[in-house]
Amino acid sequence: MLIMDEYFFSNAVIGPVSTNCFIFGKKSEAIMLDPGGPEVLQIVKQLSKKGIEIKHIIATHGHFDHISWASDVIKECRNAKLYLSEAEKVYYEDYHNWMVRYGITPPEIAKPDIWFKDNEILDIGGLRIEVIHTPGHTPGSSVIYIEKFINGNDTVKVAFVGDLLFKGSVGRVDFPYSNADDMKLSLERIIEELDDDVLIYSGHGESTTMLSEKNANPYLLAIQKGIPIF
Ligand SMILES: [Zn+2]
Repeated sequence: MLIMDEYFFSNAVIGPVSTNCFIFGKKSEAIMLDPGGPEVLQIVKQLSKKGIEIKHIIATHGHFDHISWASDVIKECRNAKLYLSEAEKVYYEDYHNWMVRYGITPPEIAKPDIWFKDNEILDIGGLRIEVIHTPGHTPGSSVIYIEKFINGNDTVKVAFVGDLLFKGSVGRVDFPYSNADDMKLSLERIIEELDDDVLIYSGHGESTTMLSEKNANPYLLAIQKGIPIF
């Protein structure tokens, strides 16, 4: 049977801290972003029945609730490659082990195959993906930006921002290895670089747009007025 190699987009809220896990790209070469819970195993099995195969796993940052179940995905999809910012390298195992503090037994730790860096272009899943390094929440936090994001017949601008920005708020900077000064610079950078019509998909909570955050997010409003945010 010939499987139509069309583009798709789906998401699920998973894991111990309600992480948004996004799956998109071409059905024959799908990308899973932020495998943050044990539900990924079931998701991958369901997708496989629809002819969708995960070939790439991208984490917006190295916190366990965004990457630690990559090993379960790789068990099912043996050829899947894991992508993480090179700036998370030295903290990666530590983040993984945080689960013990949450009373969770950590799954097997998956080793990233590709350590990406700022401004790198990833040509995967039939998409041109741009990495924007936005440290602050963690040293390697990155925005995964797709200018021509294809979802069925629609083409839109999409930014997967992890825990950098949320609808009406921004990511925490009180974790080990967080840096408030870097966070401010990263927020300034995305205000500058992302157009108003970019759809924002955060690591937790609802989606939004760059325009509504510039107009209503108290942190982004303060930055635009030159008022300190932390
Ligand atoms: Zn985080």
